[in-house]
Amino acid sequence: MEKTDLLSCSREELKELLKAAGQPAFRTEQVFSWLHEKRVPTIEEMTNLSKDLREKLTQSCEIPSLTIVTKLVSAIDGTIKYLYRLPDGNCIETVLMRYKHGNSLCISTQVGCRMGCRFCASTLGGLVRNLKPSEMLLQIYETVRDTGERVDSLVLMGIGEPLDNYDNVMRFLELLTDEKGYQLGQRHISISTCGIVPRIRELMEKDLQITLSISLHGTDNETRSQTMPINAKYPIEQLMEACRQYVEKTGRRISFEYALVSGVNDTPEHAKKLADLLKGMLCHVNLIPVNPVAERDFKRPPKERIYRFVSLLEQYGVNATVRRELGSDINASCGQLRRQEMKGEI
Ligand code: SAH
Repeated sequence: MEKTDLLSCSREELKELLKAAGQPAFRTEQVFSWLHEKRVPTIEEMTNLSKDLREKLTQSCEIPSLTIVTKLVSAIDGTIKYLYRLPDGNCIETVLMRYKHGNSLCISTQVGCRMGCRFCASTLGGLVRNLKPSEMLLQIYETVRDTGERVDSLVLMGIGEPLDNYDNVMRFLELLTDEKGYQLGQRHISISTCGIVPRIRELMEKDLQITLSISLHGTDNETRSQTMPINAKYPIEQLMEACRQYVEKTGRRISFEYALVSGVNDTPEHAKKLADLLKGMLCHVNLIPVNPVAERDFKRPPKERIYRFVSLLEQYGVNATVRRELGSDINASCGQLRRQEMKGEI
């Protein structure tokens, strides 16, 4: 029988589990704190539980863990990229970025991805499986353990599509932001999506204080569908309508990711179309010079064209910045290290 993954359990589930083991209600908070506040790696270390109870729990439950396969540290800016092995042998990537305002961690939400975006390395082998809530939490917990530093903010921008693993991501957020756990504030969390409209609407109803990031990358259906298959299902008009409603409902500014690809979406006409699309919306545009992927033939525009694009957006009244590239010496953009491992290069 498969053991219960304690780190993925909600408070309610922990309570039921402990009740079934004949334990009083106050044990729930004790166990929750061991798991998410003190973050012990084994049940054995929960020392305010009787030895009997610890043994009983160990028979039916477990605390999963990740192991570090590769750890790359950038000599340029201190960015750390981890290739973590999951309990079932699959690998995922996690990146710690250092900013003036603190440490930001980029985590994966799935093993692989089925969204098929043409410029992205994470989707090349398709989707293997969803990550469990525990496997998302552990990317933070293990990184904090390894570095001895706090993670101040979090972006769900690693391997996978967070809204394609919706229930587990929601459970993960609930556990991570719990006042008896790691206590990361919702305002320090960003979720990035390629644009699964019904899930954006579901998320909107939750009225969270997180930041929603939309991977836009194109300003019309033809260009966007060419690189992002999801656009054929949920075209730009539907996506933008959902975004406008999202801002209205939550009062939160949306962040739009726009990867600049030379000759594809980087002309002054594209800047104008982008500005028209976002007109009047509380939003910010993050321009990312596309990261070349070995298997794909996308090139970044020359610097001048990137800066012309930003200044045009600004002239049209759209708030935009070019994302600073971190860890360029360690291949820090997600998906590429896992590919190397799968090809036997690590
Ligand atoms: N699936 C989610 C989150 C993961 S990707 C999403 O689509 O938003 C995180 C961001 O990196 C997305 O904006 C994605 O479009 C972008 N990205 C992927 N490959 C890239 C590349 N080669 N160059 C630049 N950005 C890339």
